[in-house]
Amino acid sequence: MDSSLISTTKENKRENNWIGRFAPSPSGQLHFGSLIAALGSYLIAKQNNGKWLLRIEDIDPPREVEGAAKQIIQTLENFGFEWDGEILYQSQRNLAYQQAIDSLYQQKLIYYCKCSRKQIQQRNQGVYDQFCLNRQIRDPLAAMRIKFNDAFSSFNDEIKGACCFSQPADLEDFIVKRRDGLHAYQLAVVIDDIDQGVNHVVRGADLLDSTPRQNFLYHLLNHQPPRYYHLPLVVDADGNKLSKSKFSPAIESHKASYYLCKALAHLGQKVEEGYYHISPKEILKTALQNWQLNTVPKQSVKHFEVNAN
Ligand code: GLU
Repeated sequence: MDSSLISTTKENKRENNWIGRFAPSPSGQLHFGSLIAALGSYLIAKQNNGKWLLRIEDIDPPREVEGAAKQIIQTLENFGFEWDGEILYQSQRNLAYQQAIDSLYQQKLIYYCKCSRKQIQQRNQGVYDQFCLNRQIRDPLAAMRIKFNDAFSSFNDEIKGACCFSQPADLEDFIVKRRDGLHAYQLAVVIDDIDQGVNHVVRGADLLDSTPRQNFLYHLLNHQPPRYYHLPLVVDADGNKLSKSKFSPAIESHKASYYLCKALAHLGQKVEEGYYHISPKEILKTALQNWQLNTVPKQSVKHFEVNAN
């Protein structure tokens, strides 16, 4: 069979077996920015008759807020979301991550690095300079970095179009295992998406610059990367991103319909006056019927106001 036929068959399989996901980190409760990612990923998956999985990215205990995972799940339910299958918790996936690390190390694709943030700052203004690349360190207490290949610096995004990264910080050898022994987000997210069969990743544009790294990992692990859809960020009046770490307020379930309407408007979708008075589930159902990918803004959008009346 010629190779174009093989790739067409693979593409058909992907479109017929659409798997998307929402993957919040429990570093705080759901805020308006994360609702955008939940809503966008849900609507895109469901409009394509796909599955929508929920994964709790509790891979970083120092940043985790106690009880946040439970609250996130409860909030999603209150907002009318229904996910397919069991929830996957990254905290239970260490074996899979470590197997990937071992295999990459055996293939000499990653290396140990003992440099502190401060040293990297002093030597090269915070951009990693491959100081440990050829030092042959073998120390379980050191971090592990992957030797990045600049050929992966660009990719096509289904919403934003061609994305290209050329800043030194975006192209440095990045960490896959931290000095504190925790597996890094970049690695965990790729291993999980591969193992869960996720082939359409819809998420906030704050993760745009992670995508080249993740695509490179897909390449090293011999897997086809997913299609990416990076949703416009919500920014405050000063242009700063709303994020859990900046203590943006949690979205309250008793105002679920209000927030869903605002989130739909943020995603460039038509919101009828009547939406405000129907249940979250009904809003999701109607939004699904009316969903238009081509009206989703390509750039960040200023937040309306944080508090609902
Ligand atoms: N866990 C990440 C977050 O909450 C999202 C990861 C992803 O969607 O790739 O920001």
